[in-house]
Amino acid sequence: MAKWKCDQCGTVHRRNPNKCRSCGNTVLSPYHGDEGGSPLDDPRVRYGLIALAVLLVVVLVVALL
Ligand SMILES: [Zn+2]
Repeated sequence: MAKWKCDQCGTVHRRNPNKCRSCGNTVLSPYHGDEGGSPLDDPRVRYGLIALAVLLVVVLVVALL
């Protein structure tokens, strides 16, 4: 289900409102929050990066000892 995003302030609405509830702007664009976003929006990617960072720190500590 498409959401609607205010062109002016970026507020995302679940349904297409007559105007933005945050700023009153009447221009809203279809918004697909779950599609085509940044890879960093995916929690699995974030946890993967954290795991990679931890692994790098461990390797560094082991190498320095
Ligand atoms: Zn707005």
